[in-house]
Amino acid sequence: MSAATFGFSVHALDPGSQARAGVFRTPHGEVQTPAFMPVGTRATVKGLLPEQLRALGTSMLLCNAYHLQLRPGAALVRELGGLHRFMGWDGPILTDSGGFQVFSLAQLSAIDDRGATFHSHIDGQTVRVEPESSIECQALLGADVAMAFDQCPALPADRTQVEQATERTHRWLERCVLRHRELGCESRGQALFGIVQGGAFEDLRARSVEAVTRHDLVGYAVGGVSVGESREDVLRAVRAAAPRLPKDRPRYLMGVGTPRDFFDAIEQGIDLFDCVTPTRHGRTHQAFTSTGVLNLRQARFERDSGPLDASCDCPCCAQFSRAYLRHLARAGEMLAAILLTQHNVRFFHALMERVRAAIGRGQLAQLRQTVLAPAAD
Ligand SMILES: [Zn+2]
Repeated sequence: MSAATFGFSVHALDPGSQARAGVFRTPHGEVQTPAFMPVGTRATVKGLLPEQLRALGTSMLLCNAYHLQLRPGAALVRELGGLHRFMGWDGPILTDSGGFQVFSLAQLSAIDDRGATFHSHIDGQTVRVEPESSIECQALLGADVAMAFDQCPALPADRTQVEQATERTHRWLERCVLRHRELGCESRGQALFGIVQGGAFEDLRARSVEAVTRHDLVGYAVGGVSVGESREDVLRAVRAAAPRLPKDRPRYLMGVGTPRDFFDAIEQGIDLFDCVTPTRHGRTHQAFTSTGVLNLRQARFERDSGPLDASCDCPCCAQFSRAYLRHLARAGEMLAAILLTQHNVRFFHALMERVRAAIGRGQLAQLRQTVLAPAAD
């Protein structure tokens, strides 16, 4: 690990699990972990200004190299000063390589050992992505953390298919590491995280951890989860992978999820999360609250003059009633989505703040009970 630019230190360990609280240092600032990264797919967290994100407790964002490569193009972002300047966010950014999107969103036309050919979901244009080109694209974007280009097997997949995708991911990682080094990315302030695959097969996950950690990288991710499998399968994958990853590096679980998922994963030693749930739920008028997920379009809120969540300190809960939010949602006003997104993002960050404090006090299990007991999810 390049000590000058990147670092990770653990400050507290939970006595009852593998959970840890720490700090991930990047060229654009520190991230207290466990942390949640809101998703800014197209270089914007939909509806929120950078200063609002900051005020809600966001320290690190995720953007998507696949989307930004297709539009507006990574070279253009580079020409305009790189991703931080382009989107007006001076904190840490992680770019997803697009492996997940290539295999889920795009119409995949061919995959071979060199890379993947697919049709853009925007205009149908044929696009080729290989490990090297993904690293080059992410180098142009200039995020603090680039992700390796991996093959995320689409479900349903049998063991043979998962094993093939996992082995290919390992071969691709070697090429990602090589290209990242050739371009001198780390000395220019960009780390590379490797991705562990292996589906819900414990032995494949363990083998994948071994292969991926042969490379001395700044951090490691558990990928290929949250692709439609059961909660038990996600947990099986995390249990098999996370505790085997190096203790002195940040561990990132990609694309998960909900408060219950967070507790499950944090107890296995996961430090970083991203998910579209707070922002997407906000746009569909659903709010994460201390009493579970609420749908603000429901008639029961018509005359509800109380705040969305009495225990939340976000601007939405400080100023507006459930009745007003319901009215905005039903009238199709954009402010409904903006306020509910603000609230949801704050809810996730506030949860992580409580988790970090609880780990520090050795009370994570009590917090889990307090948070999950009244909530359905
Ligand atoms: Zn709130």
